[in-house]
Amino acid sequence: MGREAQSEAIREATAAMADRMAAEKSFLTDLDSAIGDADHGANMNRGFQAALARLEDADDDPATLVKTVGVALVSEVGGAAGPLYGGSLMKASGELEEGVTAESSVAFAERYLETVEERGKASVGDKTMVDAITPAVHTYRKAIEVDDHDPLEALGKAVDAAERGVAFTTPIRAKKGRASYLGWRSVGHQDPGATSTLYLLEELFAVAEEHLDGDVEIDAEADVDPEELGEPAVGGDVDESANSDGGS
Ligand code: ADP
Ligand code: MG
Repeated sequence: MGREAQSEAIREATAAMADRMAAEKSFLTDLDSAIGDADHGANMNRGFQAALARLEDADDDPATLVKTVGVALVSEVGGAAGPLYGGSLMKASGELEEGVTAESSVAFAERYLETVEERGKASVGDKTMVDAITPAVHTYRKAIEVDDHDPLEALGKAVDAAERGVAFTTPIRAKKGRASYLGWRSVGHQDPGATSTLYLLEELFAVAEEHLDGDVEIDAEADVDPEELGEPAVGGDVDESANSDGGS
């Protein structure tokens, strides 16, 4: 995929994310009203609408576009999540200066996670967005570097990992952010920031699916016949409905 197509995909992903934040605004706010101050949905919605507007006049270069989204989130989301989401995107966008490849996307994901951890001082188990980002990034990296999956399949696995990370936030006690003020009363509630992280990843995956399905991202392999790759693009988990005992 050339640079122009990458830029187009980033614009589309941002638009899809903005739509999703608008659609989930009240749900995210409900989650935040249980263990925070009931503003996460409004914060994220405002931030992504601003990001969309800023992309209209941004240069068509992948790193610049991602950085522009980050700047918009820093200035418009506010709260704890704004600097974490926006500042980390700004920092990680530097990894895309040579364009988006399997390799640079891994570097981007790792830099994003590192920056969130550094700025929020949270680790896995503190009941924050880090609980969704960490398994997603580790899964993505392993899928590409160890299991040699293509980026689309790796991203699908990362989304599944983030979903498990979100579920993991429910039964644990918050140790960072506003929710930590509740101590044990935070137990039993799903973390809003981990949840918005999952939604954004789902939208990224949906757009990547449209752009990368059947495509091999690395130019050197551009004339590999997609059919030779064999495996389905999205993989993995056993569909539980297949276990029903219809023994005909
Ligand atoms: P605020 O808590 O300032 O109202 P938001 O409601 O927009 O900000 O975002 C809350 C989310 O931010 C939490 O659900 C959590 O995922 C994330 N968060 C809060 N503090 C931290 C932190 N120190 N490190 C990582 N994530 C954090
Ligand atoms: Mg809040």
